[in-house]
Amino acid sequence: MLKRTFLTLPLAVAAASLITGCNDKKTTDSKASGKADSEKILRVGTNPTFAPFEYQAKGSSELTGFDMDLIRAIGKQMGYKVEIHNLGFDGLIPAIISGNIDVAVSGMTINEERKKAVDFTDPYYTSGLIILVDKNNDDIKSIKDLEGKKVGVQIGTTGANKAVKIKNAEVKQYNNSNEPFLELDNKGVDAVINDQPVVAYYLVTGGHGKMVGEIMEAELYGMAVKKGNKDLAQKINAALAELKKNGEYDKIYKKWFGS
Ligand code: GLN
Repeated sequence: MLKRTFLTLPLAVAAASLITGCNDKKTTDSKASGKADSEKILRVGTNPTFAPFEYQAKGSSELTGFDMDLIRAIGKQMGYKVEIHNLGFDGLIPAIISGNIDVAVSGMTINEERKKAVDFTDPYYTSGLIILVDKNNDDIKSIKDLEGKKVGVQIGTTGANKAVKIKNAEVKQYNNSNEPFLELDNKGVDAVINDQPVVAYYLVTGGHGKMVGEIMEAELYGMAVKKGNKDLAQKINAALAELKKNGEYDKIYKKWFGS
């Protein structure tokens, strides 16, 4: 009965209760009763500090962004209700492994290290890392120039992996993707390494700094599911393929990235 009430709530309200952390009991309940499948709920984990992919718009409790639109469309296509869980980026893979979420959709790069822990769907977006510095900084022009410098990154990301390999760099790791930007503003770091579309969005929405150097190697974003959950990966892949075919993917892409 309770559960039914929950399921009829509008998504925004549901998402708000999830953000405040009230989701665990409900999720466990539906799982424990073995009804998760028949009720077709897709429990999606994300770290919503990564505009324009996932973030909380000002004055709204609903999570928005390219990934959020895409997974809602995929869920709809699959006939699942999408339930969004707000987690730390470094908590997403553990949440998949423990079964607290079904899929992570969080601008997550497909890489070999993660593939040891989770399975990925087909790629849905091509990205890559870039360096952001203060706009008056003329010393840093490439990753080589970051040697011995203070570099801000988000914990558990490919940007963090890249930064820790820079000789003598002091790498400052933050819990969310926005903090390194603030630290750059406060001169707490000399540079930030983050995904280029996120840095670009930060700059066009009033953030400070300039991008330098080239986009590092291409990184493909995928949705991560529990290792061996071929059924879910296939359903998501089929839905994604359909959305690409019927123009819905392009519509969502255009909404967030222009043409
Ligand atoms: N694409 C990067 C990664 O997978 C960053 C993701 C993020 O911060 N949400 O590590």
